[in-house]
Amino acid sequence: MKYDYLVVGAGLFGAVFAHEASEKGKKCLVIDKREHIAGNIYTERIDDIDVHKYGAHIFHTSDKKIWDYVNRFAEFNNYINSPVAIYNDELYNLPFNMNTFSKMWGIKTPAEAKAIIEKQIAELDIDEPANLEEQALKLAGRDVYEKLVKGYTQKQWGRECKDLPAFIIKRLPLRFTYDNNYFNDRFQGIPIEGYTKMVEKMLDGIEVRLSTDYFDIKDEIDAEKTVYTGMIDRFFDYKLGVLEYRSVRFETEKVDTDNYQGNAVVNYTSADVPYTRIIEHKHFNFGKQPVSIISREYSSEWKKGDEPYYPVNNEKNDNLYHEYEKLAAAEKNVLFGGRLGQYKYYDMDKVIAAALDMCSEEL
Ligand SMILES: Cc1cc2nc3c(=O)[nH]c(=O)nc-3n(C[C@H](O)[C@H](O)[C@H](O)COP(=O)(O)OP(=O)(O)OC[C@H]3O[C@@H](n4cnc5c(N)ncnc54)[C@H](O)[C@@H]3O)c2cc1C
Repeated sequence: MKYDYLVVGAGLFGAVFAHEASEKGKKCLVIDKREHIAGNIYTERIDDIDVHKYGAHIFHTSDKKIWDYVNRFAEFNNYINSPVAIYNDELYNLPFNMNTFSKMWGIKTPAEAKAIIEKQIAELDIDEPANLEEQALKLAGRDVYEKLVKGYTQKQWGRECKDLPAFIIKRLPLRFTYDNNYFNDRFQGIPIEGYTKMVEKMLDGIEVRLSTDYFDIKDEIDAEKTVYTGMIDRFFDYKLGVLEYRSVRFETEKVDTDNYQGNAVVNYTSADVPYTRIIEHKHFNFGKQPVSIISREYSSEWKKGDEPYYPVNNEKNDNLYHEYEKLAAAEKNVLFGGRLGQYKYYDMDKVIAAALDMCSEEL
C-alpha cells in the first residue's frame, strides 16, 4: 500500500494534518505508539465522567478561525476555568484578582489593593532580579509571592525559587477586577463528548494503527512523506544529546461522593503538600454523577523513557534543539511538528494553528 503521508502521532497536530490532507485527496496512515488516539488530550470515560488522563485540558483561544475549526468536530460547553488555591488553611481565587486581594487583606477597592502591592514591592527594593524569587517579589510583592507563588513553583520545578532563573516568570498578571476567569481569551470551553470523540471525528475515514511505534515499522511503510510529531531528539537517536523535560505523575482515584472539592481545579500552593493540584474531572462538564473521580498531580523530574510533558526551554536545551532543527531541515521527506517535534509548549489552539500552517505550505 502506498501512502502520500505517514503521520506519526495521533495527537492534535497529527489529527489536524491527516484530516486536512485527506480532505485534499491525500492517502494518509496515522500511527501512534499508544493504544489510543488523541495524544495528550485523551479523555477516557469512566463512570460516565470524562477523565483527562494526561492532565486537565481547557480549550481557550482568541482566534475565531480556530474556534470555528474545533466546533466543526465537537460541541463545546460553556466551562470557564476559575481555579482556587489552598495555602495552609486559607483559600484564594485565581488568577490573582480582587477576590484574592480582598480575602488576603480585607480590602474592597482596586486602589487599596494597588497601594498594598506597590508598598510591598517598594519595601523590597529589588532592582535587577537575580533569580525567580526576586523576580516574583518584584512583580507581585511579598504576600502574593509567599502564599501563592513560592511553594507551587518550587514543587513544579523541583528546586527552590531562589535557585531558579528569573526568566521563568516573565509576568505575573495581577487583575484589579473581581473576575475569576483564568484566561483572557474570547472563546473557552470543553467538548461535551470529550476530547477523544473530537479527535475521532477528525480522523474519521482515515487509516489509524495504534500500539505502533514508528521506529519499529518505519522501513515497512511505503509513504511519500512522513509527518513526525514524536520527540525530535529520539528521531535522530539522541546523537547530539538528550533534550530535557519536566514530567507529571497523576494519582487518579474514584471517590464515593458526588462533589469532592466543589471546583474542577484546586492548586495547593504550600511546599509541604507534595502535589501541585487536585483535578475533579466531573466539574469540567458540570457532571451530576453520584460519584466523582479526582487526580492528584505531582510534578516530577524527567528521565529518558518517562512521559515528556513540559520542555525545559533554558539556554542549553534551546541550543541543542536548534542543532536538531538543522538536522531536521536536511530531512527532505520528513516534516516535524507538534509539541515534541518542535520542542515547544503549545496550547491546543496554537498546535492546531501550527498544523494548519503546515497544511497550507505543504498541501
Ligand atoms: C499537563 C498539561 C496540561 C495542558 N493543559 C492544556 C490546556 O488546559 N489548554 C491547552 O490549550 N493546552 C494544554 N496543554 C497542551 C496540549 O496538551 C498540547 O497542545 C497538545 O497535546 C499537543 O498536541 P501534539 O499533537 O503536538 O502532541 P501529543 O498530544 O503529545 O501527540 C503526539 C503523539 O505522538 C505519539 N508518538 C510519539 N512518538 C511516537 C513514535 N515513535 N511512534 C508512534 N507514535 C509516537 C505520542 O504517543 C502522542 O500520542 C497541556 C499540556 C500539558 C503537558
